[in-house]
Amino acid sequence: MLAVKTIDEVRRVVHPAKQGGKRVGLVPTMGALHEGHLSLVHAAKSECDVVVVSIFVNPIQFGPNEDFEKYPRPIEKDLELCRQAGVDVVFYPEVQEMYPRELLTTVRVSKMTQTLCGKSRPTHFEGVTTVVTKLFNVVGPDFAYFGQKDAQQALVLRRMTADLDVPVTIRICPTIREESGLAKSSRNQYLNDDQRVQATSLSRALKEAVSLIKSGKKETSELIGAMETIIKTAGPCRIDYISVNDLETLEEVSRVQKPVVIALAVNIGPARLIDNIMVDAEGNEIIMFGRNVV
Ligand code: AMP
Repeated sequence: MLAVKTIDEVRRVVHPAKQGGKRVGLVPTMGALHEGHLSLVHAAKSECDVVVVSIFVNPIQFGPNEDFEKYPRPIEKDLELCRQAGVDVVFYPEVQEMYPRELLTTVRVSKMTQTLCGKSRPTHFEGVTTVVTKLFNVVGPDFAYFGQKDAQQALVLRRMTADLDVPVTIRICPTIREESGLAKSSRNQYLNDDQRVQATSLSRALKEAVSLIKSGKKETSELIGAMETIIKTAGPCRIDYISVNDLETLEEVSRVQKPVVIALAVNIGPARLIDNIMVDAEGNEIIMFGRNVV
């Protein structure tokens, strides 16, 4: 495995491979890798010849009072996990490498970035779409892998590549969970034992919403009410949102009549946790790519 910190080095390895007809897969991450990230690597390995993982805690996607400084950065452990997973190239640049000058150019997707997490994180997705565009330009992947865990991010990036004719196929892979149902996340490290138990209320709430839809309850207000009760009963928390949105446009819906994403963001202790599930109008789970292992 090659681990490099500069754009030049990545290009020197990847571009000849591409020219030789190899399929290149990119897995963008912020590090502190866990099974969720590794599932993306496995998906990439299943259909690509060269797998590149980027590890970069991207400052421009964090708001002023967010956790950029304290975000975990266990780089040696991450490199070892990548090595064990059979990654070919890890690109782990310093901030200066990615942003060597004042950034005057950004990529912004409208509408879809104003709902859900966009309401409380108004500059977040512009930071994401900009850095991912840069990574696409550095690596030139044929396929790029994102987790459904960050559903809005993945759908926004898919829309960006469609709108801008970026020659990459976006794969949205299933959320990997703990046995308790808690979605794996680098930010779970911020939770103590009690909070970790409390945090299982998020996936329980989503499951409850799905069974309500299956039993014919399609009114969003009723679904949200039931989810709110489960989450509030579990312990002290601050609910940022619980929402049911159209899977294509991410607009809020008042009834489940088409495929939707049921999404929530809840602050428990020091951690802002997000989770979601995608279902059709009958409540059948929608898997975008690969196999759901839950
Ligand atoms: P992050 O390092 O948190 O920016 O995540 C990098 C990529 O891994 C994103 O595409 C995430 O959606 C994905 N990811 C994070 N957690 C999970 C999970 N539990 N299951 C699947 N994918 C995940």
